[in-house]
Amino acid sequence: MSASPQNAYPSAVPPPPRRFSGRANVFQGKPVASVSEFPAVDVDVNIGVPKVALDEISLSYKTNKHGRLVALDKISLEVKKGEFLCVVGPSGCGKSTLLHLIAGLNPQTSGNVLMDGKPVTGPGTDRILIFQELGLFPWLTVGGNVEFGMKMKNVPKAEREEKVQHFLRLVHLSKFSNSYIHQLSGGMRQRVALARALATEPDVLLMDEPFAALDAQTRDLLHDELERIWAETGSTIIFVTHNVREAARLADRVVLLTFRPGRVKQEFQVNLPRPRHMEHPDVTRMARTVLDCLREEINKSLEVEYADEKAR
Ligand code: ADP
Ligand code: MG
Repeated sequence: MSASPQNAYPSAVPPPPRRFSGRANVFQGKPVASVSEFPAVDVDVNIGVPKVALDEISLSYKTNKHGRLVALDKISLEVKKGEFLCVVGPSGCGKSTLLHLIAGLNPQTSGNVLMDGKPVTGPGTDRILIFQELGLFPWLTVGGNVEFGMKMKNVPKAEREEKVQHFLRLVHLSKFSNSYIHQLSGGMRQRVALARALATEPDVLLMDEPFAALDAQTRDLLHDELERIWAETGSTIIFVTHNVREAARLADRVVLLTFRPGRVKQEFQVNLPRPRHMEHPDVTRMARTVLDCLREEINKSLEVEYADEKAR
């Protein structure tokens, strides 16, 4: 978890456990003069290395025999360990494409995706993608869905059962372990998907507009829960949304992409205390700042769409 001031929780909320070991040059709170004076400590060799780095990433899709569509164009971006990054941009700017790349589901045309400094060459259990459609299994119970990823990883049964309970408690669904997905509301399904993703204990959670289909009240509750869980687990989150208020509510930093091809247009550091509320004037002000910048891109996307319509 980043120790930046925007992560400072008021005393009512317990501080997140620090997964950031940062122990290489500190021993019992004191600077280490000489490493040899002390017993060997678990040195985190990745200190200072971004959790996720995109290095001049470009991706183009083949559209027909001759044509290609450049979806992403030379995107460079670094995401710190424990950071909550939101990516916003108009529809079709390449947000999902970007997450798929980081998840290792799509290869880039050029550039590199790095996790802890190492190139991503395919999917891995250190990253997990949650999307709007969720992909929950209707033939499994809630507990069965949460257990599924762990089974795939050959986690022993007793440990799986313990973790199912733990992660269902984390999303407040302990009582629904034996229910089936069709018996749950949209918000509860989202929480099952979150518990299932967290149960595989990924370093990075990739979330693609996960709350877009929910009503405003349910979404507000899930924002609170996601913020709490993020603080408790210390995960790194890359969260895609087209909703600037959602981004201002959740993010440490917001990255705004341009309309086709997707490029980083601007970044906004959100230095607001947590937990945050959607209605807080500072959140609203932040959202407005992002929206002013986004509007230009939305207008461009509409112009292209109207031109396409006319050409038909
Ligand atoms: P967003 O998530 O920001 O709405 P996407 O990443 O889904 O955008 O898509 C970016 C662009 O790439 C869009 O113009 C979309 O039509 C195009 N695209 C996405 N996937 C494919 C694909 N598999 N083949 C061809 N074009 C695609
Ligand atoms: Mg998308």
